Amino acid sequence: MASSFYPPQRTLMGPGPSDVSPRVLGALSRPTIGHLDPMFIALMDEIKTLLQYAFQTENELTLPISAPGSAGMEACFVNLVSPGDKVIVCQNGVFGGRMQENVERCGATAVMVQDNWGEPVSVDKVAAAFDQHPDANLLAFVHAETSTGVRSDAAALCALATQRNALSIVDAVTSLGGIELQVDKWGADAVYSGTQKCLSCIPGISPVTFSARAVERISNRTHKVQSWFLDMQLVMGYWGGSSKRAYHHTAPVNDLYALHESLVMLQEEGLEAAFQRHQHNHLALVAGLEAMGLAMAVAPECRLPQLNSVLIPEGVDDAALRASLLEEFDLEIGAGLGALAGKTWRIGLMGFASSERNVITCLSALEAILCRQNAPINSGKALNAAQAVFKG
Ligand SMILES: *Cc1c(COP(=O)(O)O)cnc(C)c1O
Repeated sequence: MASSFYPPQRTLMGPGPSDVSPRVLGALSRPTIGHLDPMFIALMDEIKTLLQYAFQTENELTLPISAPGSAGMEACFVNLVSPGDKVIVCQNGVFGGRMQENVERCGATAVMVQDNWGEPVSVDKVAAAFDQHPDANLLAFVHAETSTGVRSDAAALCALATQRNALSIVDAVTSLGGIELQVDKWGADAVYSGTQKCLSCIPGISPVTFSARAVERISNRTHKVQSWFLDMQLVMGYWGGSSKRAYHHTAPVNDLYALHESLVMLQEEGLEAAFQRHQHNHLALVAGLEAMGLAMAVAPECRLPQLNSVLIPEGVDDAALRASLLEEFDLEIGAGLGALAGKTWRIGLMGFASSERNVITCLSALEAILCRQNAPINSGKALNAAQAVFKG
């Protein structure tokens, strides 16, 4: 006979999911109501408005897809790409590769612009790709590469796309709520995110927003969108305007209570204050790690405050260290991915998990286990260095 599942209380400092705020978990357990209940429809409208704030946009087509970030990614591609299109896809980590896969599954050609893992997308290389492929009508890139901890210049890339008469698709799964993301000001056309990174919310929902230009391209499609569930024309009938809502699917009612609560929290804190909190905790963590003698894997000017890639010192048993952190300290950090597997740790400071408490917890636990493994580090320095940043 199976019995109830009681998960341990972990501290989630990996690449996501991140710690969920108790306020959000509380909202999740409120009574379920019908998805066409007038009270729920009012909540859906408020979620749209709160998402417009988070995305800094007035785009009417702004809503949460009822599925994880990967579905938001797919929603952008299947609606904007038609068979025979040419799409410039930037890859500097894991997620650019998934964009290529999406483009090809839409029957289009992906023109790949490759940059090293751990470096930002080169705007010059993208401009050269447009020179070579003036018929490309879309540019897709990742703003915050969670696999490496790198931020790319989304403002410049969106401006370049607009200049070349192309639309932009921006992966902002890890950026939303953690770093500046100005959808309207930057002229981004289709942007997707996720709830489990910097929004302090549970995994499983994907906020998306489409510009008027993107909506126009969707309306002018001659091929049906290959996905029924993610066809924005149909989803709009459910989430759209104030007119009668057509049943499309059953919204994940309680998950949307959770998203609403997390967006209320973001509005209460204020976007600018949330970005500053992420930045401040990041600087304290880096000060502590460097005082310990560890080195960061990404250049300071393109580091993501919410995802910190650290080089693993020679001779350290990566898997054993992460297992000890989890078993003894209930602390999860991320392993390196792809080209960086075994070479880096990825320490997340996302949303509710971006706190002074978590910085101190992580530095202490990491130092304890590194000392046990006789790693060549400076012990007894990290907490002072972090405290200096918190005091300053
Ligand atoms: C996490 C992540 C995704 C995928 O989101 P899921 O919710 O896991 O489907 C996509 N892009 C980036 C940059 C991410 O960090």
